[in-house]
Amino acid sequence: MKKIVIIIFALVSVCVVLFFSYAPRYFDETKNIVTTRIAETDRYPWYDSIPFIADLHCDMLLWDRDFFRQHNYGHVDLPRMQQANMALQVFTIVSKVPAGINIERNDDKSDQIGLLSFAQLRPPATWFSAKERALHQINQLYHFADKSRGDFRVLTSRSDLTQFLADRSKNSSLTSGMLGLEGAHCLENEINNLDVFYNAGVRYIGITHFFDNEWGGSAHGINKGGLTDAGKILIRKMNELKITIDLAHASPELIDNILALTTQPLIVSHTGVKGVCDNQRNLSDKHLVEIGKRNGLVGIGLWETSVCGTDAAATAKSIRYVADRIGVKNVALGSDFDGAIGTHFDATGLPLMLQALEKEGFTRAEIELIMGGNIRDFFLRNLPE
Ligand SMILES: [Zn+2]
Repeated sequence: MKKIVIIIFALVSVCVVLFFSYAPRYFDETKNIVTTRIAETDRYPWYDSIPFIADLHCDMLLWDRDFFRQHNYGHVDLPRMQQANMALQVFTIVSKVPAGINIERNDDKSDQIGLLSFAQLRPPATWFSAKERALHQINQLYHFADKSRGDFRVLTSRSDLTQFLADRSKNSSLTSGMLGLEGAHCLENEINNLDVFYNAGVRYIGITHFFDNEWGGSAHGINKGGLTDAGKILIRKMNELKITIDLAHASPELIDNILALTTQPLIVSHTGVKGVCDNQRNLSDKHLVEIGKRNGLVGIGLWETSVCGTDAAATAKSIRYVADRIGVKNVALGSDFDGAIGTHFDATGLPLMLQALEKEGFTRAEIELIMGGNIRDFFLRNLPE
């Protein structure tokens, strides 16, 4: 009997060790995949002279990946950002995702991120609280900046960005990050937590992610409603603090309500457009035009559901559509790198966008804006002092 107990105990121990050692990396490797890799022999003559390459949306902080080492899986790490001549990546915080996630309809009853946080042996508070998970991921980014000895910095104000631009003009290996939230559910129904996240450096917030929450309706929720009374207070307070509103994942009614209330320009951090790729998560022409009128910014995705294709040409086609309707200064890249999806390529494949945008007839000056200049200019106008 004693022998059996020892054997069972040993087997359980082995399983536990295997689970914590391999499960998180297994999910990272199998969820964050690419459809193509750029050929090393390909040359993109003026790519490296683009002054500011940037992307509006990346979920890398969700994964326990060494930021300072180049990986052959996932989409973003510091060496790959530098190789791609990236000046800025916005790092977004995913803090709750329902099981069986789909773009049509999800409730908020289940959550995969608590389990992932547990499997990664993140602090116990993160296993149970979306707010703690978000704060942990935010701290990670500052930790990267500290450890980078100046190669990577976190930008939270207009003066940070201005200083970064001056420094980078002398040293093009410098790169930076900003922080955004994917879903305001991590405020945990407490408006004062907005100050907590503002003080932690969060500069844009998507009100909803894959489920309806206490502030408003998701494009993929059950009711898909508009702003709640609490949500209206949240929008006003975000305007006061100059936290940009991200309309990605918002239900059409929520977008209407926010457009009627907000006094500031908006972004859609990672999306596609119904005019090219008609599905539940993409932006209608009506909303596209309203965002353009407010001098907002639309980040076009690098994955199949956003653009109905699996290559740079598909993304360039949607970018052309947006530029033709609301202007070339209002469109950008919103990759959704590391968002548990297959992207066309990882960060090192960004030169493929240059080629695809040229084929869509954009000029060099226009391509420089689309590849990052517009993101730089938007945040120079809209970040807090
Ligand atoms: Zn998303």
